[in-house]
Amino acid sequence: MASAKLLSLNPNQPDAKVIREAAAILKKGGLVAFPTETVYGLGGDATNEKAVAGIFAAKGRPSFNPLIAHVAEARQLEALVVMDDRARELAEVFWPGPLTLILPRTANSPIARLASAGLPDLAVRIPSHPVAQALLKEAGIPVAAPSANRSGQLSSTTPLHVMESLGENVDLILGAGRCPVGVESTILSLTKKDAVLLRPGATTREQIEEVIGPVLQSPGDPANTSAPGQLQSHYAPRARLRLNAKDAKENEALLGFGPDMGVKGGKRWLNLSPTGDLFEAAANLFSMLHELDTPDITMIAVMPVPETGLGLAINDRLRRAAAPRE
Ligand code: AMP
Ligand code: MG
Repeated sequence: MASAKLLSLNPNQPDAKVIREAAAILKKGGLVAFPTETVYGLGGDATNEKAVAGIFAAKGRPSFNPLIAHVAEARQLEALVVMDDRARELAEVFWPGPLTLILPRTANSPIARLASAGLPDLAVRIPSHPVAQALLKEAGIPVAAPSANRSGQLSSTTPLHVMESLGENVDLILGAGRCPVGVESTILSLTKKDAVLLRPGATTREQIEEVIGPVLQSPGDPANTSAPGQLQSHYAPRARLRLNAKDAKENEALLGFGPDMGVKGGKRWLNLSPTGDLFEAAANLFSMLHELDTPDITMIAVMPVPETGLGLAINDRLRRAAAPRE
């Protein structure tokens, strides 16, 4: 396949003709990369096994790693998953938005088995980005959409990242500037009696607990484990990462946070947020890692980010990016 077609849209008022073109590609089983409020997604018809297989192939993603199905409205979900009271309350408060719920598949769920990697449960989300909303509404089908990058690499937060990472493997890229949140959705499992947080994101555990009460932390969550060997390598740039750095050494780049960033040593410096704002830091995280990941840099030294609020999601991604690789 030749390099993908890129169509740029106004993020707040997407052109209806372009949205129709993109929806038609999805309905025919093609792949469309599109912006969400978290990161760019690589979308395909979640009910079409071939389209879903195409997503795994385009990303080089292991087929045991399940995908999130996206829809425009909560009422579309009743046919796909078994919604309980907790799910309905969370849907009411946080959707559309950066929260993914894992729920049991319905007996006749039309979602491709491959999308949920053969599991009895399915991850679902209603994104709020106006382009994602418009596309999902127009297509009218559930859209499986993992992050629009090669598996294991940095997530894409700009159309350029998508083009560089997946260019030849996608039929159309809808570009609409940078993703406002910048880190992937919070993932909450509701398949058992206790709700379990599987991945931290912009919707915080505290916010969720205000609605449904206590939430357990996944035992596999890197935030809970001190053994780096247990960490799954993911979200990784080509250069290695050194966390909790105070300054950078020769051949290193420094990714700072807050007003006290030192500029001693190192080849290049970027600051996630000079004012120490975690929302700004999350929005900058992947694009700054992309920017610092040049061939002359062997290591990216990263200053500490506070382990609160959105900082939990930022540190989760940084720990995985720094984890030992195969
Ligand atoms: P991504 O699409 O790259 O944001 O990743 C989606 C992640 O959601 C997967 O890597 C899993 O960790 C999680 N996930 C999706 N579906 C399920 C499921 N049915 N059960 C448990 N985890 C899931
Ligand atoms: Mg991903």
